[in-house]
Amino acid sequence: MKIDYQELILVRLGEITLKGLNRRRFEARLIQNMRYRLRDLGKFKIYQDQSRVYIEKRPQDEIEFPTREILKRIKEVFGYTSASPVRRFSNDKDLLYEQVKAYVAQLFSDGKRHTFKFETRRVDKKFPLNSYELNSDLGALVLERYPDQATVDVHQPELLIQIEIRKDIYLYHEIQPAYSGLPVGTSGKGMLLLSGGIDSPVAGFQMASRGLLLESIYFHTFPYTGDQVKQKVIDLATRISDFSGKMPLHIVDFTEIQLELNEYVPPEMMTIVMRRMMMRIADKLADQKKINCIITGESLGQVASQTVDALRATNIVVNRPVFRPLISNDKNDTINLAREIGTYETSILPYEDCCTVFVAKHPKINPSLADCEFAEQDLDIPDLVKQGLNNIETIII
Ligand code: ATP
Ligand code: MG
Repeated sequence: MKIDYQELILVRLGEITLKGLNRRRFEARLIQNMRYRLRDLGKFKIYQDQSRVYIEKRPQDEIEFPTREILKRIKEVFGYTSASPVRRFSNDKDLLYEQVKAYVAQLFSDGKRHTFKFETRRVDKKFPLNSYELNSDLGALVLERYPDQATVDVHQPELLIQIEIRKDIYLYHEIQPAYSGLPVGTSGKGMLLLSGGIDSPVAGFQMASRGLLLESIYFHTFPYTGDQVKQKVIDLATRISDFSGKMPLHIVDFTEIQLELNEYVPPEMMTIVMRRMMMRIADKLADQKKINCIITGESLGQVASQTVDALRATNIVVNRPVFRPLISNDKNDTINLAREIGTYETSILPYEDCCTVFVAKHPKINPSLADCEFAEQDLDIPDLVKQGLNNIETIII
């Protein structure tokens, strides 16, 4: 007998269920972002019901539902807490038993021992058995069928087999955790200063997880930093965009500016002055693009240009909040996250960036605002900023 069911994906909402009147907007954006992330797999029916979103095949489509591929892709969408592949079938007691037998047969087909437990939610109170009866009856059935493999564990079962009895019946056990956060686009836009390092891609990931849509800016100092570095930044931007959606990457030709700095700025002040130039240009570009915040991968005390005084000196040249989500991170935690989100391997490719080529061996520790202004006194700052803005190549990732 072929047992009929439909496979679909159940998505559990978290923080956005607390959004009160705004909630619909957040849900709509989550669904829109999921559609975008799945666009190359096909069109699906994606809809919201109570505190959940469901993804399933459209009734008119004859396709095999690509459950695994969908799960893999929505892992990279922010704004929900977990997802499960689910079997749905008609609300009927005999059918439920047949379905459970087939489902459990698959779970135990590896021949190994597993602890298990059934958990039922009976929303439809007309169903002939109550949750308790169903759990113990099905539990006994599994023990009887798989005496050498199955053990009940009510506290921490390996297989928590869940049944929901509603208008239809839903059966599942697998839970794929998500990165939670808010759907990208619900918090406006941010300008990410993206270098080829480990930190800035992670910073972009983190702010995207709070709902920011990103644009990135990279300062390129060709030929002192080669095109391999540019490619590395493009690759990093491409990976971040899997999470954050379509992202313009603005590549600023920074060489002339850098050479000008080399001429007029004392070497021990170079890093901080360079950073202030980058911030000014990013800030003006953000103005043009109507972006209200800047994001960097800075972390307190990581290097001389990331002390409190140095951060103050870089903040003061811009007109919008600067988000530094890694500010309190231990480098190891950042590295672990970079590994997990798939940017680490690219970040550690051994090409030098401008910061390593032009920077003094012994930068001034804790440069103050006054130190910066003194170091910049011979520069025509507005002109340099204009020069930067006039030499931007934008790639849409
Ligand atoms: P990362 O911090 O990403 O590992 P890094 O260590 O080379 O790269 P730092 O010298 O720590 O960079 O710079 C601090 C922050 O300044 C970076 O996280 C990034 O946001 C920004 N930044 C540095 N260099 C560049 C660049 N060439 N283009 C754009 N942003 C940059
Ligand atoms: Mg860094």
